[in-house]
Amino acid sequence: MDGSTPNRTKRTADTSKWRPQTRAVRGGQIRTNFEETSEALFLTSGYAYSSAEQAEATFKGEVDHYQYSRFGNPTVTMFENRLAALEGAEACRATSTGMSAVFFALLALLKAGDRIVAARQLFGSCHYIVADLLPKYGIQGELVDGGDLNAWEKALSKPTQAVLFESPSNPMLDIVDIKAVCDLAHKAGAKVVLDNAFATPILQRPLEWGADVVVHSATKYIDGQGRTLGGAVLGSKDFIIDKLQPIIRNTGPSLSPFNAWVLVKGLETLGLRIDRHCANAARVADALAAHPAIARVLYPARADHPKHKLAMAQMSGGGGVVTFDLKGGKRAAFDTLNRLQIVDISNNLGDAKSLVTHPATTTHMRIGAEERARLGITDGTVRLSVGLEDADDLIADLLQALEG
Ligand SMILES: *Cc1c(COP(=O)(O)O)cnc(C)c1O
Repeated sequence: MDGSTPNRTKRTADTSKWRPQTRAVRGGQIRTNFEETSEALFLTSGYAYSSAEQAEATFKGEVDHYQYSRFGNPTVTMFENRLAALEGAEACRATSTGMSAVFFALLALLKAGDRIVAARQLFGSCHYIVADLLPKYGIQGELVDGGDLNAWEKALSKPTQAVLFESPSNPMLDIVDIKAVCDLAHKAGAKVVLDNAFATPILQRPLEWGADVVVHSATKYIDGQGRTLGGAVLGSKDFIIDKLQPIIRNTGPSLSPFNAWVLVKGLETLGLRIDRHCANAARVADALAAHPAIARVLYPARADHPKHKLAMAQMSGGGGVVTFDLKGGKRAAFDTLNRLQIVDISNNLGDAKSLVTHPATTTHMRIGAEERARLGITDGTVRLSVGLEDADDLIADLLQALEG
């Protein structure tokens, strides 16, 4: 829904020809009659009708009019349309968090008796949804090693309705062959949901590789400054409008207009920020790899990443997260974290500020030692979300922390 009248002929320009950076700055903008240059913040829960007849026609779906902000809000619409333009998706619905985006995308695809196959390299809460929550509602989940195409093929030899994975994954930055898994999933009758939070549409556009649905934690790079929670589901109009929208409207995981406003402004600088995150992360990864206390560094843009070639075929950059293993295990990891003077200890990521976490005792504590071992997460594993500070300062901070 648009709700505005185009104020100038310029607004009717063929926006489909815009290059990504122009879409990021101008895509989806709705201007009011005040002709404001910046996106307006419509902090309203409801909307007035000019007559009872107009209200009736709105509820019948005969006129384009906002009804209630659980259903839609112009600021939220701007965020949805701008992100859709960047992902190359027909439609987008924003949600309150990344987790509600994942959960509601799956609810829209699955019903009792159905089956979902997911990569075991999943964000902790996604793991809970697939392994603990959905089975309670009669939906069986199977987890496979996301990097093992034979495992996918075996799991997808049975009829399946949904496939879920992240690439790159958290925290080990495993890469899934998107096209190959999408082909296998489609043969099994499944729709593919890809969590694109780590790469963002700047580095990776999964719909072009065959994914059916993209989900985002906008909390991460899309905000990029650690201010708000938010999420989004993107896909075809059929899926978003016919299947997902009724569930969102009637159950209420809606994004607040204020958070949508933060996020729509975040998209304007996403490309610039991602470029710098990638440049900083590449320099930090190289500096860490040269340090004797470190057993290995995982960064998709480095030639020694196990799936480097595939990563660089699917993504146009390595992203902002670097994961490394300290030879000294948990004690060395804790000592290093505790000595950092710039980088903050925090389980969030995708912030302008560099953040570091020890997955085994925080984000991935709940899954247990056995599952961590299967994922390659050791007691010496450290996940570093490289921010937008000067790379030289970050490297100096990390080196002094490693040296003790
Ligand atoms: C953070 C994150 C989520 C969850 O997003 P929230 O906004 O915290 O709900 C989902 N997937 C990935 C890959 C994430 O990093």
